[in-house]
Amino acid sequence: MASIAVIGAGVAGLTAAVELKRAGHAVTVFEADDRAGGVIQSVRHGGFLADFGANSMLAPPPLVRGLLSSLDLKRHRVDASTAASRRYVVRGGRPLAVPTSPLALVTTPLFSVGAKLRMLTEAFNRSRPAGGEESVASLVERRLGAEIVQYALDPIVAGVYAGNPHRLSAMHAMPLLGGLEARYGSFVKGALGLIQERRRDRARGVLPPEPEGKMFSYRDGMATLPLALAKALDHDIHYRTRVTRLGPVGSGWRVVTLGPEGPAQHLVDAVICAAPAHGLARIEFAGKQGEDWSALPGIEYSPVAVVVSGYKREEVRHALDGFGVLVPEREGRQTLGTLFSSSLFAERAPAGYVTLTTFVGGARQPDLALSQDATVEAAVDRDLAHLLGITGTPTFRLVQRHTRAIPQYNVGYGAVKERMDRLERTNPGLFLTGSYRNGVSVGDVMTSGLLAAQAVGENLPAGDVAPSGATG
Ligand SMILES: Cc1cc2nc3c(=O)[nH]c(=O)nc-3n(C[C@H](O)[C@H](O)[C@H](O)COP(=O)(O)OP(=O)(O)OC[C@H]3O[C@@H](n4cnc5c(N)ncnc54)[C@H](O)[C@@H]3O)c2cc1C
Repeated sequence: MASIAVIGAGVAGLTAAVELKRAGHAVTVFEADDRAGGVIQSVRHGGFLADFGANSMLAPPPLVRGLLSSLDLKRHRVDASTAASRRYVVRGGRPLAVPTSPLALVTTPLFSVGAKLRMLTEAFNRSRPAGGEESVASLVERRLGAEIVQYALDPIVAGVYAGNPHRLSAMHAMPLLGGLEARYGSFVKGALGLIQERRRDRARGVLPPEPEGKMFSYRDGMATLPLALAKALDHDIHYRTRVTRLGPVGSGWRVVTLGPEGPAQHLVDAVICAAPAHGLARIEFAGKQGEDWSALPGIEYSPVAVVVSGYKREEVRHALDGFGVLVPEREGRQTLGTLFSSSLFAERAPAGYVTLTTFVGGARQPDLALSQDATVEAAVDRDLAHLLGITGTPTFRLVQRHTRAIPQYNVGYGAVKERMDRLERTNPGLFLTGSYRNGVSVGDVMTSGLLAAQAVGENLPAGDVAPSGATG
């Protein structure tokens, strides 16, 4: 049995810790805050439900499925309504449905005739990247033209990263898209090729069967998931305990913390660093070869304000028949997008009311995300009135600000990733995991936590094992 410290009780750290505990290791999680979940937080208030971080999760990746089913959360799970497949993007100040069939693509007013022709002839486009890391906007513009960047890519990037498509790295932020051109020479050929490959692999049993349902959450919001993981860890989580210093000792590690009882140090065999990159950068650290965290400040985070609003149904003209509406930067509005939360999942609003979740700021308008509540609320009111035809004032409203919400895998991330890989190689027993490493979705982050837990088992330093336990 090894002793392992986990820094941070977001989904990455919790996932790693539960996996290690179940494998029989002694795990201690240090969490600076007084609750588990990190950016994921759900608040129920008078029949309304507000999710301030993740609102939903896509069908979990294979590695995560086993852990999720072991948590016994099935009875709390709510699947997204069928309306979720309809999404809106604003063009010319109006929300327009995103086409989901070839016929709808031909007739949609969302794209011009020229842009549609570029899409239809993409397979014949012979353009190639200049070399080096390319931004996702540059990749899509080369293959499909500027209009598709503005009215398809930009809103997707706003929805996933609250990021800037001209800065995000195609290879690291959207690896699937980046890989399609590299492997198949075209997005269209690549997408068709991938579908065929997956079908073949599923038939041969190489891939597990298609998971049931696509998108889900929990009756009381996404925080149900970290709370269940935290319950499995019970007293192994130390809340209000910030890790302040970390360094090697013998073949293990010394973790210095500051908690309600004052400073303490803990000697462990391995450490999983699952705090965000900016949180880790604040921990005093010297590695086995004197290394510091020099890779981590290279990872930027975009700020986001989340505004959850409840309205009487009759005060909203729009049908709210979909997942939500995304706002391209070119439209010159102030919000990034709005989820139709109560259309998406049951029990998000009392009967006769609707709940909308609006995101503000991101890489597009970072100052707005960080401004006073009244300024953010006014921006939301203006956009919702215009885009969704809202006539009344909200009967319910909560605002939460993430000063550093989502890590940006910007061009140059490849070098940052290499430095993180090197840091792990030169420091046996030290593992970096979380949304800054292998993708930002809850499924990616949980996968990253599980992989870190597996790596601990495989890579514990041989020889002396540091005496585990806390010293005052
Ligand atoms: C507004 C928003 C909406 C999102 N929507 C979705 C969505 O709909 N679907 C989806 O799949 N994903 C979504 N995501 C992304 C996903 O929620 C996150 O990527 C994921 O939850 C991050 O988990 P994490 O464990 O890596 O980090 P975090 O959640 O940031 O957790 C890290 C923890 O480390 C702690 N910590 C920091 N420093 C220290 C220290 N020195 N000592 C001890 N503890 C420390 C922090 O307090 C925190 O609890 C969204 C994210 C945001 C911000």
